Amino acid sequence: MTKKIIITIDGQSSCGKSTLAKQLAKSLGYVYVDSGAMYRAITLYFLRNHIDWTDIKEVKKALKSINLEYIFNPSSNNSEIHLNDENVEYVIRDLVIAEKVSEIAAIREVREFAVIQQRKMGGRKGVVMDGRDIGTVVFPDADLKIFMTADIAVRVERRFKELFEKNPNVTIEKVKNNLEMRDYIDSNREVSPLRQAKDALVLDNTYLSEQEQFEKVLEWVKTKIVAENA
Ligand code: C5P
Repeated sequence: MTKKIIITIDGQSSCGKSTLAKQLAKSLGYVYVDSGAMYRAITLYFLRNHIDWTDIKEVKKALKSINLEYIFNPSSNNSEIHLNDENVEYVIRDLVIAEKVSEIAAIREVREFAVIQQRKMGGRKGVVMDGRDIGTVVFPDADLKIFMTADIAVRVERRFKELFEKNPNVTIEKVKNNLEMRDYIDSNREVSPLRQAKDALVLDNTYLSEQEQFEKVLEWVKTKIVAENA
């Protein structure tokens, strides 16, 4: 039987990591894990329950009440995140969550909580996981690590289009501020900052279509799988 591999995709906000990860997982018959959804769901819980996340005791207590699960939804053909049995896949995409998530994802205890679950999900290989620290911290021995990047103007435009469809009050400026703020916090936090792993392959998709980037990465994947099975 063909040996399966672990593929990690890290990079700044709105580079198209999840689009690529989903395409790869589908074509390879692998599991896709959106690690950012965990931090977003935890943020939703903290906001709804008025958790003071500057108080570590309160954070630890709150984390004990959080159960996260990815459940496959045949109508969207995707695994969707559930917070304490509620499907929150769509609410966590709101800008209100995006405005706080990086602050909460910088908390050591929050990261430890998420990383334990992420590692379990990759235990059997055959996984594509995207995030900020997947190739550096969660799976430092992953078989294929991709670091994605794209010009800020292109990333803002992509995210703006996505958010505007659901909320016409969203402005380009708000989206740009949010992406820049998240990239700054994610790259400068003390615990597991966003970094390119030394052995990551860089994918700048500023001038690539979804199909072009998919074909390019599929070649990388095939090369790795052949090497793993040699
Ligand atoms: O990937 P997404 O943009 O949904 O992630 C939301 C936020 O979650 C990021 O801006 C970052 O603060 C945090 N995150 C993280 N580590 C990951 C994935 C996401 O810190 N592995």
